Amino acid sequence: MKLNRRVFIGTSAAAAATLAAPSVFAAGHGKPRVVVVGGGAGGATAARYIAKDSKGEIDVTLIEPTRMYYTCFFSNLYLGGFKEIDDLGHSYGGLAAGGVNVVHDWATGVDRDAKTVALAGGGSVPYDKLILSPGIDFVDGAVEGWDLSAQNAMPHAYKGGSQTELLKAQLMAMPEGGTFAMVAPPNPYRCPPGPYERVSMVAHYLKANNPTAKIIVADPKAKFSKQGLFQEGWANHYEGMVDWIGEDFGGGNVSVDPNAMTVTIDGEETSVDVCNVIPAMKAGRIAELAGVTDGNWAPVNAADMSSKADGDIYVLGDAASQGDMPKSGFSANSQAKVCANAVRGALTGSKVFPAKFSNTCWSLIDTNDGVKVGATYEATEEKIAKVDGFISATGESADLRRATYEESKGWYAGITADMFG
Ligand SMILES: Cc1cc2nc3c(=O)[nH]c(=O)nc-3n(C[C@H](O)[C@H](O)[C@H](O)COP(=O)(O)OP(=O)(O)OC[C@H]3O[C@@H](n4cnc5c(N)ncnc54)[C@H](O)[C@@H]3O)c2cc1C
Repeated sequence: MKLNRRVFIGTSAAAAATLAAPSVFAAGHGKPRVVVVGGGAGGATAARYIAKDSKGEIDVTLIEPTRMYYTCFFSNLYLGGFKEIDDLGHSYGGLAAGGVNVVHDWATGVDRDAKTVALAGGGSVPYDKLILSPGIDFVDGAVEGWDLSAQNAMPHAYKGGSQTELLKAQLMAMPEGGTFAMVAPPNPYRCPPGPYERVSMVAHYLKANNPTAKIIVADPKAKFSKQGLFQEGWANHYEGMVDWIGEDFGGGNVSVDPNAMTVTIDGEETSVDVCNVIPAMKAGRIAELAGVTDGNWAPVNAADMSSKADGDIYVLGDAASQGDMPKSGFSANSQAKVCANAVRGALTGSKVFPAKFSNTCWSLIDTNDGVKVGATYEATEEKIAKVDGFISATGESADLRRATYEESKGWYAGITADMFG
């Protein structure tokens, strides 16, 4: 039987997995080819593991426009003065040395029938299996008055690198007693504790450098990740500095004017000095162009992260609609290992182990005051399902909080080595 795209669409995960392998072995070219789009937490890990574990049996190409990847994880610590920007940058030299063909370009389209990825620089790259890990893009019109053309006046700093540096420069340039505003995103979004760790780190910086400054957070949500821990920390360390306006108080009814530098929350206009707009998110655009999204995100099968729309495409990390895992670097890295194992199995017949996933998100509230939340997960027919979880408690000892922060530093060193070699 000749397999075409229509056969895959609507086919169950198990059947798709069975069908996918023969289509590759019958492809009639040299080594099987894996193309990975996006060299972040999901894509870099998947590319590295497939190249490393297949020992040259699979041709792996990574398409990533930037030459340095600046992690979003720990970017808040840079805002707080605990890290330098260079501490967050990682090059792709280790992946290249590990046998990955690294192509610095944008993927601009996917031809699922021809099984090729088009590049902005011209030409296209053929694949047998395609892994998409493009992270997030923003939903147009999500915050009234803001679009991408306003990102220099009102940065999101929700993609790492220059945006994070811009937000830090604006924070440092705030006048004495000025106002820092944040427009927080609706669920689901990248890194659930991220905005609130950012509030903590901005408060830490301001307390030391501009102690009469204020922080306003307009939030469309009634509650947020680790809320009790953050609010306890804000009261302990930054009393009177943070005004969080949740959904119940009109925090979702917000518009901004980047020219006038004003924020209007539930009808009340305020002049601000810095405005960090974190809009609603969706899967990185290439997932949409590949036709594997349904709404804002790309549905996947939990056992191997394969797309529900196409058995030869896999979607990792923030772009995926997978179930219970939060959109985090730890999650993307964990999903990438499951996917790499499954892709290698499909292409070379190597043993495929049952999918297991885990995640922990650490947040720093003040010097040596770290908290965490995490869980383990398993693949079910329906989704990646939570098995059990843990969270720091309010009122923990200073020693435990310090140990939690030290643990997070070990995690950062470990995950970046795991991604980039
Ligand atoms: C402030 C903040 C703090 C965070 N803190 C933590 C934390 O403490 N712990 C944690 O686990 N997670 C944290 N995260 C979340 C984490 O950064 C993301 O969940 C993670 O990076 C997702 O990995 P990904 O592979 O899906 O996307 P990314 O890591 O964003 O990688 C996507 C890559 O794809 C590339 N790309 C996009 N489109 C294309 C295209 N068309 N062609 C080629 N390449 C493309 C991009 O250039 C990018 O390099 C934080 C996020 C933020 C914003």
